[in-house]
Order: sequence, then C-alpha cells, then structure tokens
Amino acid sequence: ATPTSIMVGTGKAAKMGVLFRKGEALQSLRDATVIALDKTGTLTKGRPELTDLVVAGDFTEAEVLQLVASVERQSEHPIAEAIVNATKARGMEPDTVQHFEADPGYGVAALVNDRRVEVGADRYMRKLGLDVEVFAKAAHRLADEGKSPLYAAIDGRLAAIIAVADPIKESTPAAIRALHAEGLQVAMITGDNRRTAEAIARRLGIDKVVAEVLPDGKVDAVKRLQAEGGVVAFVGDGINDAPALAQADVGIAIGTGTDIAMESAEVVLMSGDLRNVPNAIALSRATIRNIK
Ligand code: ADP
Ligand code: MG
Repeated sequence: ATPTSIMVGTGKAAKMGVLFRKGEALQSLRDATVIALDKTGTLTKGRPELTDLVVAGDFTEAEVLQLVASVERQSEHPIAEAIVNATKARGMEPDTVQHFEADPGYGVAALVNDRRVEVGADRYMRKLGLDVEVFAKAAHRLADEGKSPLYAAIDGRLAAIIAVADPIKESTPAAIRALHAEGLQVAMITGDNRRTAEAIARRLGIDKVVAEVLPDGKVDAVKRLQAEGGVVAFVGDGINDAPALAQADVGIAIGTGTDIAMESAEVVLMSGDLRNVPNAIALSRATIRNIK
C-alpha cells in the first residue's frame, strides 16, 4: 500500500471512530482470518448484576450477602461491583474487613467480624480444599442460562452459590453476523466458567470458545490460534488483555477500557460498539484493494 492510500484509509476509519495507531495495521487487519474477543467488557457490557444466591446448610441469605459484600467492597472486579450494588439496593451496610487478599483469576478473601470469608470461582474453592459438588445441579442450570456461578465459603465451610449475569451489548449480535459475512472465524477468550462461556457463545453463534483462562493465559490462547494457522486480531478492554493485544497480529482495544489495553493495541475503537470491528475490516479490504 502506498503511504497516501494508508493515510486516506486511516482518515476514513477515524471518521467512523476507529483509530489506527499504526498505518501498517490496516494491512494486517485486511489479512486477519480469526477475530478473537475477550468476553467481559468486550462482548458483554462488563456490568454484571447479581441474579441468584442459594445458601447451604443453616446459613441465611442475608448473612451470606452481608459477609460477601463486605469482602467484595475491597475488590475492583466487575463481579465485586455487582455484589456490592445488590446490598446497596437492599439498604445493607457493608462491614469493615481485615486481611483482604485477591487471588487473580480465582477469587477474594478477608476476615469480617472475625469470620473468614472466601468468594470466587469453583477452582478457588477446590484450591481451598472445598467440594462444590452439592451445588452441581444449580451450577449447571445457572451456567446454561449464561450466568456465572461463584461460591462463598464462611469459616472454611461452603456457604452459598451465587450467580451474576453480564448483559450482552446491543451491538454484539450484529457485529458477529457481519464478521461471519466477511468470512472470518470468531473466537471468545475468557476467564469465566466453561459452561457459561459456551452458553453465551451458542447464543451468539461464536465458532470457538477458550474458557477458564487465567489472567496471564490469554496470550497463550492467542498463540494457539496463531499456531493453528490463523492471522489473529484480538479485541479486548482490560488490564489482563494487554499481553494478548500485543501478541495478536492486530490488537484492537476498546477506548472506554483501560489505558494499558489501548497502549498495547494498534487499533483503538472510540466506542464500545463492536460493529466497528467488521466495519474497520471492510474498510481495510477496500483500501488495500484500491491501490493494487
Ligand atoms: P474475567 O475477566 O473473564 O472475569 P478473571 O480472571 O478476572 O476473568 O476472573 C476469573 C474468575 O475468577 C471469575 O469469573 C470469578 O469466578 C473469579 N473471580 C475473580 N475475581 C473475583 C472476585 N472479586 N469475586 C468473586 N470471584 C472472582
Ligand atoms: Mg474484559
């Protein structure tokens, strides 16, 4: 491509809200065969809501919610916000906590009024030596509904299964249809539960799911897609998406996401509207075609 045609192409892209930080990315985007997308905050709004809470044994819902929200108030994870918001809606006041710890990709823990509270994914409970099997049926039902199941342990006993649901962005279904119409394979990469991820992928017609990825594992997921022969564009918004954005043949960051994601990407979407991904690909193809 000539420098002029690239300038014209990137100028047109900027008008539709797609910022090319490097002109060459227009060419790599044209060659992309796989679009891999982060789930939370990219395909979904990144604003989950608490939908279910089922207690075990003699624990009460109010007691569990109070303890869990007190711990989650210390966390910046979107799941934490969902749980804290649910207590606010019920007029509950969280307690102060001691010894807060976050185990990225697993969960969070703290002492609340001398009670040890742990909240997180099933793999976190397993790490703590707890068996989540009693909730297997509920977990499957919730995940099949596209909700993310979490567990709470209190003083070393499994106390509840909690579900949060993160709504899919309005623009996502049309964006995926347009990517398919351009002949691209669409993949999802997420730290979330496999069954939940598969339910959402089915709903959206996503071709491939890489789930239960640890925070530093997204880069390996991108490498694997590349090793399978794909020219991979990765779309993400979070801090833990930065290495995958850098590893991809084209990194596309959402401009409403974190700064570090934007700095690691060649392309930045000015809004969270995912239709700009197929639009930018169509533009890259038209631009490079014109100058051949
Ligand atoms: P993602 O951004 O895809 O949710 P993360 O690596 O941040 O991936 O988290 C993976 C999983 O770890 C979450 O889906 C959740 O089950 C658990 N987890 C992480 N942080 C928290 C938290 N603050 N509270 C409860 N669970 C958490
Ligand atoms: Mg995200």
